[in-house]
Amino acid sequence: MEIVHVSAECYPMAKSGGLGDVVGALPKYQTQAKHYAKVVMPMYRTKYLYQNQWQVDAKGTVTMGELFFEYTVIKDPTVKLGFDLYLVDIPGLLDREQIYGYDDDTERFTAFQIAVLDWINQWQHLPDVVHCHDHHTGLVPFMMKHSYAFQKLSKVPTVFTIHNAQYQGWMGWNKSNYLPAWDSWKGGLLEWAGTINPLAAGIKAAWKVTTVSWSYLEELRNAANGLEALFEYEKGKCVGILNGIDADVWNPAEDSFIHQKYSLATVKKGKKANKDKLCEQFGLPKNLPLFVFIGRLVGEKAADILPDALGRALYYYKNQCSILVLGSGDKQVELELQQVAAANTNHMNCYIGYNEALSHQIYAGADFLLMPSRVEPCGLNQLYAMAYGTVPVVRNTGGLRDTVKDMGDAGGWGIRFNNATADDLLHAMYRGIDLYQNHATQLQNMRATMMQINHSWENCVNEYLTMYENL
Ligand code: ADP
Repeated sequence: MEIVHVSAECYPMAKSGGLGDVVGALPKYQTQAKHYAKVVMPMYRTKYLYQNQWQVDAKGTVTMGELFFEYTVIKDPTVKLGFDLYLVDIPGLLDREQIYGYDDDTERFTAFQIAVLDWINQWQHLPDVVHCHDHHTGLVPFMMKHSYAFQKLSKVPTVFTIHNAQYQGWMGWNKSNYLPAWDSWKGGLLEWAGTINPLAAGIKAAWKVTTVSWSYLEELRNAANGLEALFEYEKGKCVGILNGIDADVWNPAEDSFIHQKYSLATVKKGKKANKDKLCEQFGLPKNLPLFVFIGRLVGEKAADILPDALGRALYYYKNQCSILVLGSGDKQVELELQQVAAANTNHMNCYIGYNEALSHQIYAGADFLLMPSRVEPCGLNQLYAMAYGTVPVVRNTGGLRDTVKDMGDAGGWGIRFNNATADDLLHAMYRGIDLYQNHATQLQNMRATMMQINHSWENCVNEYLTMYENL
């Protein structure tokens, strides 16, 4: 099968979270399974763009409402990522350093989607599946079915994967003329609660909808930022397929970012060496259990409870634990975390920003990874932590519920709690400290268990392939 992934992110070209990781890995494993998977994404001006050679694949011109624009599609000729990566450039819209966060994001991503379809429309053949990811590409299934210009593509199956339903790409009806002339009787497919809602449009118009875990799919029927009824109504075409992890990137035995590589056989020594190095770098004690948080400092991740919870942990469990935070996001949370760290310089440190290499070093050096998330569609951090023998301390939600078993249950390897509150997190940390101090053998067994769990993409890829075949 020829599979075209359309996405706003793809690691290593551009990543802001799990979406980038997934779109950077899934096509690679689909290609390894002897299919032809390619990714098309915007040509942001990232480091990766300048560090690599590209060749022009196609050029075209399209209109978006009154706007006329030219686009260029370039391609990495080497296929070094294990799949074909195509980048779409639209001068004035996509030639930016950041992925999101601009006032004209609606125009940027709508133009991107139109350009992608115009490009595919020029091919001599049709792909077998177009696989769209999140709201930035949610208008693609609708345009393929109902824009007259893309009639040729109307029989190509579409899959829409929801990595995050919080963001929906809402746009006013005054922008409906952006989409190339479409069958106006089908306007209801674009609409939700009075506006054009690209996420809702993707759910309605795609042939099949997937979310990145089963529990998340269930939760969306009760909490989906306004789309609950739609998930209930469309449940027949929705499935949950858990994300995998890319073992070429996330494997402590081969990870060149970390200080000392280690495997299951050498985990104790290996983690100690990495922890010592990390603690030296951040001025933390080496002999205490190290709790870390890695991620976006936003409400979804419950980052707002961290300053209070971590401040209290350092007060109640004085000299019994140390803490390291890597993340960026809400400015108030960033400031409060820095204040807590400043008040506890010997036991806590923060790195405010995005740092891929450091994230690997932290997964390798930490003892416990904190994830109090309010919403977690799948969550990759806990899977990476498990691969590196780091105990996940997670709230009982979404993909965290599907992938972490509490150490209180037979054969469990993680710590789970129910509420995204400082109190629950504090209690979970207490269980972690007790485990570290008083139950070293159990901790060692838990590490062995979690490191042997197979979360590789090979399993999940087959689920996607079977679904495409059925379409
Ligand atoms: P989400 O996509 O909701 O942010 P996921 O758990 O699915 O959450 O994926 C998060 C990914 O982003 C992981 O690869 C994590 O290591 C990475 N990440 C998040 N914040 C940072 C940061 N500040 N520095 C480096 N990596 C980060």
